[in-house]
Amino acid sequence: MSVRRWISAFAGLAALTVAGGAMAAPKDPPKLIVVISVDQLSGNLYAQYRPRFTKGLRTLSDQGLVYANGWQSHANTETCPGHSTILTGKHPNKTGIPANDWIDPVSGKPVYCLSAPANSIAGGAGGLPVGPDNMRASTLGDWLKDGGAPSRVFGISGKDRGAITMAGHKADGVFWYREGFGFTTYVEPGQDGDAKLGPVRGINAQLKARFAATPPAWTYEQDVCRALERDYQVGSVAFRAKVPPAKFVFDTSPLLDDVTVDGALHLLAEQKLGQGPGVDILAVSLSATDRIGHSFGTQGPETCEQMYRLDANIGRLLDAVTGLPGGAIVVLTADHGGSDYPERSAERGFPEARRIDPGIVTRLNASLKAQFKLTEDPANFDGWGLFIVGKDRVRLPQPLRGKVAAAAVAVLKAEPDVVDAFTTEELLKTPPPRPGTPPEEYSLRERAALSTVEGRSTDVSVILRPGIAPLRAPGTGGAMSTHGSTWDYDRRVPILFWWPGSEGQERFFSIETIDIAPTLAHLIGVAPPADIDGRCLDLGGFAVAACPKPAVAAAPVEAKKAGFRWPWEKAQ
Ligand SMILES: [Zn+2]
Repeated sequence: MSVRRWISAFAGLAALTVAGGAMAAPKDPPKLIVVISVDQLSGNLYAQYRPRFTKGLRTLSDQGLVYANGWQSHANTETCPGHSTILTGKHPNKTGIPANDWIDPVSGKPVYCLSAPANSIAGGAGGLPVGPDNMRASTLGDWLKDGGAPSRVFGISGKDRGAITMAGHKADGVFWYREGFGFTTYVEPGQDGDAKLGPVRGINAQLKARFAATPPAWTYEQDVCRALERDYQVGSVAFRAKVPPAKFVFDTSPLLDDVTVDGALHLLAEQKLGQGPGVDILAVSLSATDRIGHSFGTQGPETCEQMYRLDANIGRLLDAVTGLPGGAIVVLTADHGGSDYPERSAERGFPEARRIDPGIVTRLNASLKAQFKLTEDPANFDGWGLFIVGKDRVRLPQPLRGKVAAAAVAVLKAEPDVVDAFTTEELLKTPPPRPGTPPEEYSLRERAALSTVEGRSTDVSVILRPGIAPLRAPGTGGAMSTHGSTWDYDRRVPILFWWPGSEGQERFFSIETIDIAPTLAHLIGVAPPADIDGRCLDLGGFAVAACPKPAVAAAPVEAKKAGFRWPWEKAQ
């Protein structure tokens, strides 16, 4: 960074020079914001393929601002909570979305994170009725709309939860792809479903015609990926890792991203996004990396092929926004990270990787039933935590539930697969991490607290050892590999900012996905809600004032009293 730039940033003025000293006129803030979330694109997977990208991800990596250390800071690294942080600027404890699913305490019934029973799905496309009602935070698009801006806001994804959580409560269109139908959306009472599908009618017709003429298929495009073909045995399941897999499924192939990007390009062109009177937002969540990762792991030919296809799909999006006269900015991140399936990780130098010992549930329930003289098994495991329940999975009443939860924590801490466990009660009392603490240094308890929502979270959060996959084996309804843990392989994600004409910069300090929304809000002059968690980051290159300087947190009073000094402070 040049001295002049440093001084101007300090003075709160627009940056006038760029690194290297060449003068570049600062641009006006862009008229289009494209936010891309690549489901399950871990920081590790990005690093693995970064040298091999040649298309869109090459452009973002070479010409963009690269934060290789981006963090989904919370513990429960699932799709719904992860997406809920990206454009709200808040951790899941404030977005109200602790997990993909939870158990309703009264009925004992499972609740999907975006369940909206009063709604329906447009066109009879099938699927659960969904909507943004469960999300308690507003998004960047909502802030624009609330301020009366003439902005258009669209979301599109392979999954409903990828589209709705980023687009927010007041979007003009929120679409996700259902094979055999095309893009659909949710319909609230009193709304006209056919009218809501208007913006995707054209692309749905095109896709239908395309797949009628040429049935969808997945074949090798890369010899380097073909070279990864091999036979594997995972538990009782034997399979050959290859493309196409033994059973081709559209949703677990790169074609899901291909059509999602087709849909995004259609919205850009037909809605003339970025060409209206206000700043427009297009949120794109690409689901194929996650679906392929779950089904085949991340280190086989399947994810390899997907990475190259993803690169090409991102390139199509960049090409579409490059010539827009009002300018555009693209942000790419992920809802969570991931890892390979434990059996292959164990073969590759991490022998601790394995699936959890299922006996943990039997032992825990036997202990709790004896301690509290219960007739039903009280511990209902749900991936990364457990609900304390009675008959028909209805949550036990308080104060019994709290007592059983506390006893469960004690039992779990003695289990070899468990590093730690916390009750929801103690997590709700846990203060947020001290401002300025790097997200990789957050304690396990702080991470779990950022995922905790009263009435929705599990009664006990369970932190398994690194590399231990939770319950359900492949072939029994469980995934081959998964994510959702508290560990950094599931928390670290890339965060890349790019715009036409931007100059590449590597920014190695850690930031969080909650920083994306306040950064974009500052760029376009919108005020986020006062209770936002994220902070504004200076992007440079645009004719806007520097972000307000964050308040510096004082050293704890106790530490000062105890004679604490920074190394550079003179002894007194
Ligand atoms: Zn997933």
